Amino acid sequence: MQTILIIEDEKDLAELVAFNLEREGFRVMTAHDGLTGLDQASRIKPDLVILDLMLPGLLGTEVCKTMKRNEKTAAIPVLMLTAKGEEIDKVVGFEVGAEDYVVKPFSTRELILRVRALLRRAATPPSPGSVVKVGPLTLDVERHSVAIDGAEVSFTSTEFKLLHILVQRQGRLQSREVLLRDVWGYAFVEDSRTVDTHITRLRGKMGAAGELIRTVRGFGYKIEL
Ligand code: CA
Repeated sequence: MQTILIIEDEKDLAELVAFNLEREGFRVMTAHDGLTGLDQASRIKPDLVILDLMLPGLLGTEVCKTMKRNEKTAAIPVLMLTAKGEEIDKVVGFEVGAEDYVVKPFSTRELILRVRALLRRAATPPSPGSVVKVGPLTLDVERHSVAIDGAEVSFTSTEFKLLHILVQRQGRLQSREVLLRDVWGYAFVEDSRTVDTHITRLRGKMGAAGELIRTVRGFGYKIEL
């Protein structure tokens, strides 16, 4: 049975989400403030954390950052609950490092879809054992590392997966929907901004090599030499 930790100070909401997740067969723990949540995350090591952004004591962004810096909790996927207008780019960005977010108010159905997708992703690492090269880019799939002109550049696991898929399908146009399915595991999602945000960050980290990623307006992306 998979365990989900909910860190949310709105007790009614935490209870509603917990109820729905338990009905789906998950074991659920809850915490109502950031510090308690952080402590539980490192003690219980849940399979996934649902983390509210606005929390008393320690903000959700701080909880997430701390989790991602701690070896014991770094690999636990974090689904952040945010309000519209909060800095979503930052939340899923390298600085905070949440794997995904849901904007409040959300439907429990949508939340459960996201939870399942994140758990699937966590269970299927990319197939190991190969080094892939495109121009100045070298991806070591086993080591999860990327080098550009021989210099190692650090990427989050989602960024790596996105880059890996684009590199594997070099020269072939990938729609946002296909990327959401293959990188994030979503069957369908209305908000394709997640893809754009991650592409922007990939390019930023890749420097001049970022130009290898081509935008096809209104459709998607591809990597091409
Ligand atoms: Ca809150």
